[in-house]
Amino acid sequence: MTPAGSVATSMRVSVLTGQKALGMEERAVPVPEGDQVLVQVSKVGVCGSDVHYYRDGRIGPFVVDAPLVLGHELSGTIVAVGAGVDASRIGQRVAVEPQKPCRRCSQCKAGRYNLCPFMEFYATPPIDGAFCEYVAIEEDFAHPVPDSISDEAAALLEPLSVGIAAARKGRIVPGSRVLIAGGGPIGVITAQAARAFGAAEIIVSDPVADRRKMAERFGATATVDPTQVDTTDLQVDCFIDACGVPAAIVAGMESVRGAGTVVIVGTGSDTVAMPIPTIMNKELNVTGVFRYTDTWPLGAHLVATGQVELDPLVTGRFGLDDVENALNADLQPGSLKSIVAVR
Ligand SMILES: [Zn+2]
Ligand SMILES: [Zn+2]
Repeated sequence: MTPAGSVATSMRVSVLTGQKALGMEERAVPVPEGDQVLVQVSKVGVCGSDVHYYRDGRIGPFVVDAPLVLGHELSGTIVAVGAGVDASRIGQRVAVEPQKPCRRCSQCKAGRYNLCPFMEFYATPPIDGAFCEYVAIEEDFAHPVPDSISDEAAALLEPLSVGIAAARKGRIVPGSRVLIAGGGPIGVITAQAARAFGAAEIIVSDPVADRRKMAERFGATATVDPTQVDTTDLQVDCFIDACGVPAAIVAGMESVRGAGTVVIVGTGSDTVAMPIPTIMNKELNVTGVFRYTDTWPLGAHLVATGQVELDPLVTGRFGLDDVENALNADLQPGSLKSIVAVR
């Protein structure tokens, strides 16, 4: 590897050691392999998935059964490169796409590397994440960011990627009418992505007034309180679930026009009773979003051009030795997105 001056050999790592148990450890700094870069981590966003692993020890089929480093939304600076990487990248600010597909299987070859069965994804058991000082990543998954994008916003290109993937899957085009259930970080970011894709109407549904207010500030053209308003009459082109609540998913499906699209993004109940006649009689296209492929360059463009705002979504900042409070910040009213500032 080609280091930039002297790179430390050991680093501080925040490790999930059990359910609701975190500890600091000293570990060796990874050595970048031939096609990898070593990134000195700057900011890491706290994702709902990190919180699920911390509180419940699992998400669907992914179970934490050994110590795990959480965190997969990150930005930083390249400080060393593997033998096969141009040393001119040292010093570059990057946003990390936190996944390593095999690049050889049929899904990878078809361009759907998010569905690669051999995927190694940060902070998904047993692969360690980014609540630490240094990570190694394949060089083409360390995406350069312009100076106009802050380190925090660069980290949040990861959840924006989920929003972009949802907008693509939802076939959002100029003029689309979209209903989004859930005004949390993913709902608000997806609303902004939908706006950038040209949606004419973006209705965000959330029972919490503060979240509706947030959604109205960031992308939503209207908001509804689902405990008060029946959305069935909306008959939107696309419904995106970003909350995982069964009643919201079913109500959202009923709110889609014939031949419209339903995109499941939220994690919540593993099983939901589906309104089969609605799906059949309206020929709904029901799909999910599992992460993303090739979204960082577009995400960086949308932020750099002001079409998507990520900085104002940050409601809490914590140090690397304070990850536990960062993971519990969502219990505070008004909390939207927490950042762990590694440096
Ligand atoms: Zn995430
Ligand atoms: Zn593959």
